[in-house]
Amino acid sequence: MAFGQQRIEYKTLDQMRIMRRSGLILDAALNTTVAAVAPGVTTAQLDAIFAAELQKAGAKSNFLGYHGFPATICTSVNEEVVHGIPGPRVLEAGDLISIDGGAIVEGWHSDSARTVIVGNPDAADPADRRLSDITEESMWRGIAAMATAKYVGDIGDAIDEYVTSQPGPELGILEDYVGHGIGSAMHMAPDVLNYASKHRGPKLKPGMCLALEPMLVRGGLDTRTLDDDWTVVTEDKSRAAHWEHSVAVHSKGIWVLTAADGGASRLEPWGVTPAPLD
Ligand code: MG
Ligand code: MG
Repeated sequence: MAFGQQRIEYKTLDQMRIMRRSGLILDAALNTTVAAVAPGVTTAQLDAIFAAELQKAGAKSNFLGYHGFPATICTSVNEEVVHGIPGPRVLEAGDLISIDGGAIVEGWHSDSARTVIVGNPDAADPADRRLSDITEESMWRGIAAMATAKYVGDIGDAIDEYVTSQPGPELGILEDYVGHGIGSAMHMAPDVLNYASKHRGPKLKPGMCLALEPMLVRGGLDTRTLDDDWTVVTEDKSRAAHWEHSVAVHSKGIWVLTAADGGASRLEPWGVTPAPLD
C-alpha cells in the first residue's frame, strides 16, 4: 500500500502518550504470545492468546476486521513473509515465525512485529538466526537514524546501508511492503521505505509517529499472494523475517512506543538515548 498522497497527522504529546499506552499493552501481549511459541502449538492458539491479552488490558484489536482480516495477529511461517492468517497449522521445531500484532486504546493505534525460531535454539538453522538478527538490528539502525534524520527517506537509507554492509551471504530487502505513519489509524502517510532513499520523502518533524518494519529474505525478492488473498510468500520459497516497532518523534527526541524502555537498551549501541514523553 502507498500512503504518499495523504496528509500527515501530527500528534500532540498527550496523543502520543495514549499511543504509548497502546504500545505497552501491545508489547506485553506480544511477550506472552511469543513465550507460548513451541513445537505442537497452532497459529490459531497464538491468536487466541494474543486476543485474550488485549481484552484483559482493555485494548481493541486493529487487525481483526481490517479489510476483512479474520484474526488479531498475522502469523507468517518460513517462506511466508507477512499477512499470514492464524489457523490449524502446527508449528514445528526450526520453523521461523513472524508474529505481527496491533492494539487500539482510546482510538490510538500501535503496531509491532517480531520473528522467532520455534523450539530449541540449537535446532535452528544458523542462516535463519542470522536472517532474523540482521532484520531486527536493521530496524534498530533505522530507529536510531530517526534521532538525527532530516527526511523520512533517510530511515530507509540507514536500514539499507546496515543490511548491505553485513559480511556473509547477501540478504534481500523487500521493496513491495513498507513501513507507514500511524496514529488515529493503523496505516497512514507517509510511507517509510526500507531501502536506499536518502533525502526523499517528507521532512521528519515532531508529532510524527512511524511504524518501521523491514522485511528481509534469504533468496529472491519476488513474492506472491496466496489464494486466501492475504498470505504473502516468497516465489522461491526462501525464508523471510519481519520486525516492527512504532516510534514517536517529539520536540525532545524519539521514543519507541512499543518497547517497555522506549528502545533505550537497543539504541544505546547506536549512541542514541530515547527521550521520554513526559
Ligand atoms: Mg505490523
Ligand atoms: Mg505495520
